[in-house]
Amino acid sequence: MSQTHKAIGILGGTFDPIHMGHLRMALELYEALDLAKVHIIPCYQPVHRKLPTATPKQRLAMVQCAVETEPALYADDREIKRRAPSFTIDSLFEMRHEMPNTPLCLLVGIDAFLSFTSWHRFTEILNQAHIIVAHRPQYQLPSAGIIADLVKERLQHEFSFIHENLAGGILLRPITSLEISATDIRKQIAMGKNPRYLLPDSVYNYIKEHGIYSITPI
Ligand code: ATP
Repeated sequence: MSQTHKAIGILGGTFDPIHMGHLRMALELYEALDLAKVHIIPCYQPVHRKLPTATPKQRLAMVQCAVETEPALYADDREIKRRAPSFTIDSLFEMRHEMPNTPLCLLVGIDAFLSFTSWHRFTEILNQAHIIVAHRPQYQLPSAGIIADLVKERLQHEFSFIHENLAGGILLRPITSLEISATDIRKQIAMGKNPRYLLPDSVYNYIKEHGIYSITPI
């Protein structure tokens, strides 16, 4: 199989709620790697963590609010529609089937990449997509072990690789370090603090309108 289309980015997460850290990462990698689009995919039910506070429908709606004025980003509802525990590999198989000639780039924060070996069928992920690790200086990649070996074996230095091949490369890219977390935003709202400027106003307005986080214990 060879590529005939520009690569697309895929940013999966819980997005409980989506915030500027996620959005800057998506937009900066979109520009740096010349991607056709970044699909932001909220999971229906995360598999490695406790259940989210907001419902799947609310988390999708918040992603939609966040990207509605940014054509580079697309709110992809495939995992929410599947209504089952969300495994990245299932979405990648589905997207590969829909877009057989489009390179797929999984965008992951380095914190998420450090636990990559615990992901469901992680060895198959690089057969379907490249992995773009958004590097932040406060996190270090391990110098030994499975992750270190994988990086050694698959690391690419030229971003043209991701447009010329459908899958299989690992790229490390720096992004603006924004120490924002959804956990912190949920806590701030629960304490009655104002989280403005950590997330888009449209998302905060949705949260207020639906009484999310302030009425539900974290
Ligand atoms: P929580 O605080 O609830 O764990 P989170 O803010 O870490 O949530 P997730 O939905 O778990 O957000 O993250 C989805 C993806 O976004 C992961 O790849 C994660 O590494 C990345 N990410 C999360 N926060 C940031 C940030 N501040 N800057 C860059 N990437 C981030």
